[in-house]
Amino acid sequence: MSEKTLRVLACGDVYGKFDVLFNRVRTIQKKSGQFDLLLCVGSFFGSGPESQALWEEYKSGAKQAPIQTYVLGANNQDTVKYFQDVDGCELATNITYLGNLITQSSFLYRNHVVLQENAQHVSRFIALASVANPGKKKYIYAFSIVPMSLMDVKELVKQPLDVSENPYRKAGEKGKSNAAKATEEEEPAQQFFFDLKQQQGKKRQTDGRGGQQGHTKQPKKHPQPTGPCWFCLASPEVEKHLVVSIGEHCYVALAKGGLTPDHVLILPIGHYQAMVDLSSEVVEECEKYKASLKKFYKSKGKRYVMFERNYRSQHLQLQVVPLPLSCCTTEDIKEFFIVQAQEQNIELLEIPQHTDIKQIVQPGTPYFYVELDSGEKLFHRIKKNFPLQFGREVLASEALLNIPTRADWKACKLNRDEEESLAKSFREEFEPFDFSLQD
Ligand SMILES: [Zn+2]
Repeated sequence: MSEKTLRVLACGDVYGKFDVLFNRVRTIQKKSGQFDLLLCVGSFFGSGPESQALWEEYKSGAKQAPIQTYVLGANNQDTVKYFQDVDGCELATNITYLGNLITQSSFLYRNHVVLQENAQHVSRFIALASVANPGKKKYIYAFSIVPMSLMDVKELVKQPLDVSENPYRKAGEKGKSNAAKATEEEEPAQQFFFDLKQQQGKKRQTDGRGGQQGHTKQPKKHPQPTGPCWFCLASPEVEKHLVVSIGEHCYVALAKGGLTPDHVLILPIGHYQAMVDLSSEVVEECEKYKASLKKFYKSKGKRYVMFERNYRSQHLQLQVVPLPLSCCTTEDIKEFFIVQAQEQNIELLEIPQHTDIKQIVQPGTPYFYVELDSGEKLFHRIKKNFPLQFGREVLASEALLNIPTRADWKACKLNRDEEESLAKSFREEFEPFDFSLQD
């Protein structure tokens, strides 16, 4: 990454839980290196006596923030006392108050409708929960930024394919009714901030034709396999002994060289390259398989992670990998994917749960996609190169499944008898959950 890039952590309401926050930051920095600053966008101070006592320890220097921390201000009357100087000041070692920029409990961000404007820089909205919230929702977010002033204008105004309208706009339709906003969102999305940059700061997007923005590709025709396909169910190349369930439009097969013995693939029976190419009935059945598998894994004390790599792959394979509930939370998995992606300069963005991937990417565009058991989704539009084993590498790593040597499927190959017996036991155990065998 270039020198002008700033690595930033941002967090939601801290409510005086300074130790929890800073310990989390230490863990993150241990895993993924130093960040330049931490931006606290919500209520930094708590109103109780404990948080006051804890704050005294930071103020006296007995405890110190492990990173340069910037605080955005008092969000309520109880905590105004902590901010002596409205123009900003140092509150404690490494903790700086940025001044009276924003003082409402829920501040307003640019509310433009991205898709209806042209040549406007894009904002990214991220909702963060409060530190150590009981629902274990995400409260800290990492990103890198290049100052706008250092960006090429063309880069700055580039509209990525994955832009969408401001998801909070509807609730705020009539103007600035924050209260309405809060009730409409199912998550307590109290804090927002935006980040003015689209990464991938390289300037090779322009091609010989002038690199027009909004230059849209024609949707491709449903492709036919150009040669033998390993995954078209009708094709002789398919390893039928790995198939564990067959529906009308989709089937499920054990992954060859799976990360775990119950790692499966959901595949369309016909030849489709990617999720974005699927017709609605295929998508529908795919969803049914997801639901069946979710219940099945849950009965085994596991949760699944799904990912799709639509890049150097002819036939859609939705990878479904179960992880023991005890090994990590959904939040850990999500964060780990994002951090690992960042380390490889891959911009993996969280997209709203209700977003259909077809809304953000055109058929024929390569991408990497992750879906968690909570329904949360991560998306990366592949520009040039992408590590083929990325999804497996992340899941196999020490922090998650802790089987790093299994990241490469070729290292996990079994002989045919072993595959057959794995498939047989999977089929038997999955049967009670398999929607395709019901009614
Ligand atoms: Zn195929």
